[in-house]
Amino acid sequence: MTTLVNLNLITDLQMFGAAEINACVSCGNCTAICPLSDNDSTFPRRVIRLAQVGLTDDLVSSKELWTCYACGMCTGRCPQEADPGEFMATARRYAIAHYDKSGIARIMYTKPVIGAAIALAAGLFFALFFAAVSGERSQTSLKLFDFISYPIIHTVGIILMAVVVLFSALGVVLLARNIAKRDGVTWKSLTGSKAAWKRTGKALWYALGIESLGQKRYREDCVDDEPVVPLYRRRWLIHALTIWGFLGLLLATAIDYGMDMFGIKATGTWVPLWYPVRLLGTIAGLSLMYGVTWFFINRWQKRAESSQHSLPTDWLFLALLWVTGLTGFLIEVALYVGPAPLWGYWVFLVHVAVAMELVLFLPFSKFAHAMYRPVALFFYGLARDRSISSV
Ligand code: SF4
Ligand code: SF4
Repeated sequence: MTTLVNLNLITDLQMFGAAEINACVSCGNCTAICPLSDNDSTFPRRVIRLAQVGLTDDLVSSKELWTCYACGMCTGRCPQEADPGEFMATARRYAIAHYDKSGIARIMYTKPVIGAAIALAAGLFFALFFAAVSGERSQTSLKLFDFISYPIIHTVGIILMAVVVLFSALGVVLLARNIAKRDGVTWKSLTGSKAAWKRTGKALWYALGIESLGQKRYREDCVDDEPVVPLYRRRWLIHALTIWGFLGLLLATAIDYGMDMFGIKATGTWVPLWYPVRLLGTIAGLSLMYGVTWFFINRWQKRAESSQHSLPTDWLFLALLWVTGLTGFLIEVALYVGPAPLWGYWVFLVHVAVAMELVLFLPFSKFAHAMYRPVALFFYGLARDRSISSV
């Protein structure tokens, strides 16, 4: 088997951040302090070594990249000030760009001015498009779907989702294939027997339930910010509330769509605030806004090691999430106060345009970690299960 060495890997990685990584002398202090590094997943020293010797394929196939929760404890312990925590974040950006075959993620990460211009152009395009297709504005009550028709929003959303699913699925399949090859996991080992199915089910539950939704290791092991930081602004909590909020909004949208399809309630029909799907959307929106606002504050204040470095694309992603959430609430206010204010129409237009932009950038931004991390955690769960059963 031939192993290709990329002599420019470190230089290339440095375009994504990690400016200090050349100072690393491989002492291993960072691995010793890292609360998440164990026999089934050792990092960050090993991952840094892969970069130093130019093993691109091994680097982007490391499940270790995605099991790191960016606490920055390793950075505080590095005698060389090589900033291993930032290196792990950089390597994740590099992997996102590697698995994005359109090249957009690379531009967003390494050419901030062009990236910002693309983001601005996309936002403007959506805003102008929806303004161009907008219809009448009733003066008596807020009829949002008379202003921008539901079928138009629906069609644009479906087209965007198709693009997003195509790019996301390609990246996820490539990452899964690479990790499986490296870890010696085959289709047969996943499904070849009853015991194999059981192991696969356990690993899936570990990745999606225990870690992605329950944030177990983040909660219990990444305790760098305790007891100094109060519970309401601990990193795991704001991370969890952001994820739960986002998933809750997706669920509310899907239920609303389903109710429309089955003739239970037409989308856009006025319902009281306590109506279950509306209530779910409101609580999920509050949860998302809470998490994203703290992410903003933490990055701005740079209090923790984990928030020392922010790229423009990190801010862009947070800004899109925050504006989508805020405009969603303003629309809700506009719908429930009387008489209905006409500014509600323009807030609705901004909301739809920004939400479309957010969807479009999902596979090319920091958000992509939400699809790659569960894949890596699944393989981590398999490896852990193997090592437990061999004890
Ligand atoms: S990053 Fe720092 S702590 Fe980690 S191996 Fe390199 S020199 Fe040692
Ligand atoms: S940032 Fe935290 S979780 Fe990631 S490698 Fe460093 S110590 Fe480990």
